Amino acid sequence: MAMQSMWAGKSIVEVGDLVILFETHNSVTYAYMEKDGVYHNRHGAFHHNDMIGQRFGTKVYSRMSKGYIFILSPTSELWSKALRHRTQIVFTLDASAILFNTHCCPGKIVIESGTGSGALTTSFARAVQPNGHVYTFEFNATRAKVAKEEFDANGLSKVATIECRDACEQGFPEQLDGKVDIVFLDLPCPWKAVGHAKRALKAGGAFASYSPCMEQVQRTCDALRVDGFDRIRTIETRLMTYCSRTVPLPVPNFGFDDQTTTPEQVESNDAQVGEKRKLEEDSAAQGHTFAKRDDEMRGHTAFLTFAYKF
Ligand code: SAM
Repeated sequence: MAMQSMWAGKSIVEVGDLVILFETHNSVTYAYMEKDGVYHNRHGAFHHNDMIGQRFGTKVYSRMSKGYIFILSPTSELWSKALRHRTQIVFTLDASAILFNTHCCPGKIVIESGTGSGALTTSFARAVQPNGHVYTFEFNATRAKVAKEEFDANGLSKVATIECRDACEQGFPEQLDGKVDIVFLDLPCPWKAVGHAKRALKAGGAFASYSPCMEQVQRTCDALRVDGFDRIRTIETRLMTYCSRTVPLPVPNFGFDDQTTTPEQVESNDAQVGEKRKLEEDSAAQGHTFAKRDDEMRGHTAFLTFAYKF
């Protein structure tokens, strides 16, 4: 079992460390450092021995080609790109909206269900450390077992506990009743667990659920209203990309060349002409940067519903 959490903030790679192997933004994986271990990709073989002892962030070359990867220190965001998916996962954009709207911070007690691939569990665990805790419930025994092994390997066991449990049928453990700050549900039928969430939450505690379909959202909101939750609100986070480009612009005519200028104005006009030239030179040299919205907006993932217990 790892002694240190995955975001221990180390600077030098050591045997046993979880290291993010970053090839491109769309090709990110990970490895636990082993003496004589090798990671293979299309660019060849990358030897762990070439990574151990290096600083996180170093560019490491394949021994067989000019291919290279960067060895990065793990974060929840990089982990969500690198982990092996056992289910759909909550990515960074939605995870940030969830943490922000549930006021998740160090010391908070969180319930999550289902655990799935553990992507959001990892984000919650980082946010609540060192003295908070995430209790996560997954009814698929294989997924629960793999997630536990991963939490142990990544040093998260002190802040995250997983239990194989059906959150809709069995609810949450009685000993958590009234002690929980945040309940997050990523389930096919979240409305079936709203009553259990209410029992677990403290007064003022936050409820959040993640559902791809509007019909699921409507049923969850109905259950939240019946249970007397406050400030029920559904949002969708969509990523809008902007392209930026730099273009030189013509300098506007300020009328500096007007022939009717009186002799008394010549001196001050000289200064203005100098200013105009400077503007022209700056514009030509630096250009002006514009941002243009892309026509495409990244597609729908899910709706996020938030509510708070009275
Ligand atoms: N949020 C997770 C992540 O970021 O990795 C992904 C969750 S995945 C979409 C949904 C999970 O809920 C599945 O693993 C499924 O087995 C589990 N699940 C479905 N119904 C459940 C229930 N009633 N109780 C507990 N887990 C359940």
